[in-house]
Amino acid sequence: MNTATASNPVLPLAATEGTKVPFIRLDSAFPELFAELMETVERIAGKSAFTLGPELERFEGAFASFCGTEHAAGVSSGTAALEIALRALGVGPGDEVIVPTYSFIATAEAVSTVGATPVIVDVDPETALITAEIVEAALTPRTRCVIPVHLFGRPVEMDPLLALCRERGIAVVEDACQAHGALYRGRPVGSLGDAGCFSFYPTKNLGGWGDGGALVTSDAELDAKVRLLRSHGEGVRHHHELATGTHRLDTLQAAILEVKLRHLPDWNQRRRDAAEALRAGLADSSSVVSPAPAAADSDHVYHLFVVRCAHRDALRDHLDSRGIASAIHYPTPIHLQPAYAELGLKRGDLPVAERLASENCSLPLFPAIEDWQIAEIVAAVESFEIPADN
Ligand SMILES: *Cc1c(COP(=O)(O)O)cnc(C)c1O
Repeated sequence: MNTATASNPVLPLAATEGTKVPFIRLDSAFPELFAELMETVERIAGKSAFTLGPELERFEGAFASFCGTEHAAGVSSGTAALEIALRALGVGPGDEVIVPTYSFIATAEAVSTVGATPVIVDVDPETALITAEIVEAALTPRTRCVIPVHLFGRPVEMDPLLALCRERGIAVVEDACQAHGALYRGRPVGSLGDAGCFSFYPTKNLGGWGDGGALVTSDAELDAKVRLLRSHGEGVRHHHELATGTHRLDTLQAAILEVKLRHLPDWNQRRRDAAEALRAGLADSSSVVSPAPAAADSDHVYHLFVVRCAHRDALRDHLDSRGIASAIHYPTPIHLQPAYAELGLKRGDLPVAERLASENCSLPLFPAIEDWQIAEIVAAVESFEIPADN
């Protein structure tokens, strides 16, 4: 059964007729879980308890303990989590925030929406992540914060970055939107910096049935500020300390996420197993390079399995002809997006990310992927012939 359809906006890369391996399958792949989630929706709807309340608090407690932090606050999206983290830390106009160009645009957007200036930097060619060296070269007296992104589920090398930032009083906000549950030297990502930001967009490793996010921290004062910022600056009922708007995680989403969180360790392990099977199958490939595995003392939760291929577009056409979906994360680095034209960065300025953007190809990888589907992907890549006119 494949319930994914092109008309479902949550599944933009979903299967069409003839697809053997869709890009992703969500909760409908697990009928028992799906039934439990439907019951959860019914239970919450029956109580008409749609905002804040004990269901949200229960999920927040469970997510904080999953992340190894004292606090977790549910918010309306991963982007809102980043934005609120920056606001709570007092980052605003006149401040610079260092962000990698190879990420989803939200990482930079959050900086812009609080009125600060994103300083967009390149990434390491091996890991596609920022490093302490890259950040150090971009520091100025106005640098207030750095946002390392644990892209595709692989943790950034945090210890040198944290040391660099602590020495200079620079805040670190982790963008862990693609890395729920990944461990860096035994510690969960999100718990390493001043605050950790998560997205529960449906396709993320932990996804809701709509938009959602969370901000985790062990700093009680920061958490209290976040709670004000997410809901009309309202500490005590009808007493508004700050003008901030509505950025809450819906109770319905929190209840769904609480059920799904129990499965996340198993799903992350399935992702790792699938990634290792793909890596083994593609080890001798002459056309693609598999992503670097996790560092020896770290962990990778494979939100995406992104290979590099010099003939990426031809490869994708070939996969498509064999019934295998694929995607590009991301075709355009942030510094070349129209939204950031004002920064004056041009093609050639951040060459590593530009090259990755032209070569990356995300292969299907999701917890419910089956062995025969992995074999199909490997066989399809193996049968790809590099176009003669190149
Ligand atoms: C998904 C994502 C976000 C934003 O999350 P939303 O919930 O969609 O707002 C931010 N950063 C990264 C790296 C992401 O992948």
